[in-house]
Amino acid sequence: MSPKLFCQSCTMPIDDMADRGTEKDGSKNNEYCKYCYQDGHFINPGMSLQEMKELIGTQMKQMSLPENIIEGSLRALPHLKRWQKEKVL
Ligand SMILES: [Zn+2]
Repeated sequence: MSPKLFCQSCTMPIDDMADRGTEKDGSKNNEYCKYCYQDGHFINPGMSLQEMKELIGTQMKQMSLPENIIEGSLRALPHLKRWQKEKVL
């Protein structure tokens, strides 16, 4: 089964509630993963799209994911909600 929900910051699958970020009141955020978003805010709020690309590229290579998967994720990044906002600002 392929994942339905992806983190809108880093493309990680967040179908599993345990992988989702948390709000200030402890509830789960349905758009961002726990590595990007905790206690109601981004863990690294100053991060740029370019920095995220480099981080994900490095992490996915460490996980030995196929090149086409890595490229697909990197291409999807600019379309995610977090980075759409950045463009508007
Ligand atoms: Zn994330």
